[in-house]
Amino acid sequence: MNASRVPVVAGNWKMNATNPEAVALARDLMAALGPAPPCEIVLCPPFTALTEVSLLLGGTALRLGGQNLHPESKGAFTGEVSGDMLRSAGCSHVIVGHSERRRLFGESDELVAKKARAALAAGLIPIVCVGETLDEREQDETARVVERQLEAAVLALPPDALAHVLVAYEPVWAIGTGRTATPAQAQEVHALLRAKLGEGFGEGGRRVRILYGGSVTAKNAADLLAEADVDGALVGGASLEAQGFAAIARATRAGSPR
Ligand code: PEP
Repeated sequence: MNASRVPVVAGNWKMNATNPEAVALARDLMAALGPAPPCEIVLCPPFTALTEVSLLLGGTALRLGGQNLHPESKGAFTGEVSGDMLRSAGCSHVIVGHSERRRLFGESDELVAKKARAALAAGLIPIVCVGETLDEREQDETARVVERQLEAAVLALPPDALAHVLVAYEPVWAIGTGRTATPAQAQEVHALLRAKLGEGFGEGGRRVRILYGGSVTAKNAADLLAEADVDGALVGGASLEAQGFAAIARATRAGSPR
């Protein structure tokens, strides 16, 4: 972590939590995090629970995010949700290009790029996910893959958008597998992404916060967050348990003099 970048921890609840469960989890998280959370926090419940969770979070420092959006702002797209809808449900953020969307729903780099632009147009902060599969890592293609994904969705944005973008490096082989990248593996890719952002946009690019995601837990968070270019975490499974998620958020303090 670097003291000049405010750490952020986001919880991706995926397709978990009915509305009563989501409210209970949000309440537990608020209690576990206390009135002054240790870092920026973004909770990403399923669409159906956004409004209820938003009502709970109102007036707190906790932020709300969607897990996906459609690139169009409205129209005949049955089952889809737009950026404006997410905003009206209380969201400030939205995850785009999650590997589960890329892999299970066939999202291309081009679609992810459109979604990132649609998020910004709706006034949302996109959390743009990039990451290689195990196969790609074993073929030594990690750098090529994450650079291609970054180029499509982030490097093509206008420079003034950068202050409103988060990037998440999520090696696909580490998501939901219990297998985490080592701090050194995470740092290597984060440093590469930061260098690319710097090449594209100068200092503004280097300031973009880059989160690590992939089986982050209360146990491994501090070591990952201690790396110079790891600015926070995107947490899946461990975000469904309040005490563990709060411990991950507190681990941002260990890595930074804040
Ligand atoms: C994720 O879904 O973004 C994620 C990182 O999941 P997990 O923490 O469960 O690996």
